[in-house]
Order: sequence, then C-alpha cells, then structure tokens
Amino acid sequence: MRKNLKIIMDIKSILKQNNFTFEKRFGQNFLTDTNLLKSIVEKSGVNANSTVVEIGVGAGTLTGEIAKQVKKVYGFEIDTKLKPVLNETIKDYNNVEIIFSDILKIGAKKVDEMIGASYSIIANLPYYITTPIIMEFVEKSEFCERVVVTVQKEVAERLVASPKTSDYGAITASIGAIANSKIIKYIDRQMFMPPPNVDSAVVRIEFDKNKFEILDIKEYRKLVKNAFSMRRKTLVNNLMKGYNLTRQEIENALSNCNVPVSVRGEELGAETYVELSNYLVKNGVKSK
Ligand code: SAM
Repeated sequence: MRKNLKIIMDIKSILKQNNFTFEKRFGQNFLTDTNLLKSIVEKSGVNANSTVVEIGVGAGTLTGEIAKQVKKVYGFEIDTKLKPVLNETIKDYNNVEIIFSDILKIGAKKVDEMIGASYSIIANLPYYITTPIIMEFVEKSEFCERVVVTVQKEVAERLVASPKTSDYGAITASIGAIANSKIIKYIDRQMFMPPPNVDSAVVRIEFDKNKFEILDIKEYRKLVKNAFSMRRKTLVNNLMKGYNLTRQEIENALSNCNVPVSVRGEELGAETYVELSNYLVKNGVKSK
C-alpha cells in the first residue's frame, strides 16, 4: 500500500515537473495502482515469450508492468508531450520501444509488418476510439492473437453479451464468430487519474480463427451488419434491405438453417449467423 502511494506520488511529481497537462481530447485518464496494473497483465494471457503492442501508453505505468512480464513491448502514443515523462518512467526497461503516432493512422497492417510475428494488444483506450481500434485489428490483422482492452463498462458488457439480451449487438456477433471474449476485471472510476465519468472493465478477446468455418468473412460481416441495421425489425425485413432477394427467398434461406422466420437479429448467436452466411455464399448470394 505504502509502495503504491509512493509510485502515485512519483508519477504525479514527474508529470508536474514536466508541466504535463491532461488532454481531454486524447482521453487521458491514467492508471497508477501497481497492484491493479500487475493484475491486468497477469490476467491478460501473455507470458515471458510474448510480444505486446500497447496502444496509448500515457505516462507509461501500464507499459512498465507489461515490460516486466513479457519479451518485447511496442508502445504507441499520440501525444508527444509525454516524451519527457516516458523518458523517466520507462528508462529502466530495455525491452520497450515507443512510437509517437496516431494508431488509427498507422493501422493494423503496418503493425503486422513491423512485428512480423504473433503479438497481443494491451490497451487502456480513450472511449471514443475503442470500437474503431478493436475492429481495425479484428478485421485486418493477421498476427494479432488477443486484444486486452480497458473500456467503458457498458462497452465491455456489449462485447461479451449473449443473444436475446439488450447488450447484444452487431459487434458481439461480429467478434463472436472469430474470438472468445471475457471480462477479466472491473475498475472503479476513482482508480484513474483524473477520474472519468464512467466505470470501466477489462475485456480479453482471444482470437480463434478455427472457432467456426466461415466461407467468406467479408460476407459474414455484411450479413451481421444488415441483420442489426434496424433493431426493432425482424431479421427478414432487415435482410430484404441488404440483399437483392424476395421475402420468400429470405424465408427459404432461414428455414434451411432452421431459423424461425419471425426471428429478430438480436436473437441469433454467432454460430447461426455463420451457418446462414455460409448458406448464402454457397448459393452465390452476395450482400448489396
Ligand atoms: N495506458 C495509460 C494508462 O493506463 O494509464 C494511458 C491510458 S489513457 C486512457 C489513453 C492514452 O491513449 C492517452 O495517453 C492518449 O494520449 C493516448 N491516445 C489517444 N488517442 C490515441 C491514438 N489515436 N493513438 C495513440 N495513442 C492515443
């Protein structure tokens, strides 16, 4: 406890000495509790042989904990004002490389090229870029094995939701086809410096490319997007907008996959969407 307090004071004084001011537009809410940071890394599924990409290193508190437990850390940070801070906080770790860039401009393909082997992402992300970043790596990375993200609690609950619940949506079904997701920790807003207006949770998304046999992943994603395009409509009505098919043709496709024709998009799990998508692909049906 005393050690923790000292680290928080150290970070505070390092930020102060470097005249650092928190940027709201970059979602800068830092985690400083060593026990919490250590436990996030321990539960993330990485080990001493892992390569980790940390997105948004901030003051480097999480970076240091990751560096202690893995082989190599590539940290991305948009705010160059953090350079002098990071020069102090991570100076003792020789397995950390910081890249001052906007991760959304770099993109998953470039990260794959840079590393050229399997890696894990660990990130405490600003809320407004959570979904774009997760989807960028889910859809485009070949080498990313897992994404461990600290996100707004409501977003975390959406990522792990079951069908027929209000949290279940297109993102759940989209990720659910190729990954297994789990909430590994809840974090109270008071644990952040400065505290945001929401509580958070850490989600571990483990990719399993063999979870289902998906004939055409792009068509799968389009099917899910169409299925959830209007939440209150039935699946048939939503699919009629997304495909050049008659009501009867869509109903036949659903019946072939043992899906009741009155169903709504949020009632079906990823497995059923895979079956339906594969059926459409096999029959040469493409989304508009
Ligand atoms: N990882 C640190 C921690 O846990 O204390 C900082 C987390 S803070 C919520 C998010 C960090 O992401 C900030 O340092 C912010 O500057 C950075 N950031 C925001 N947008 C970014 C982007 N597009 N690319 C890279 N870093 C970004």
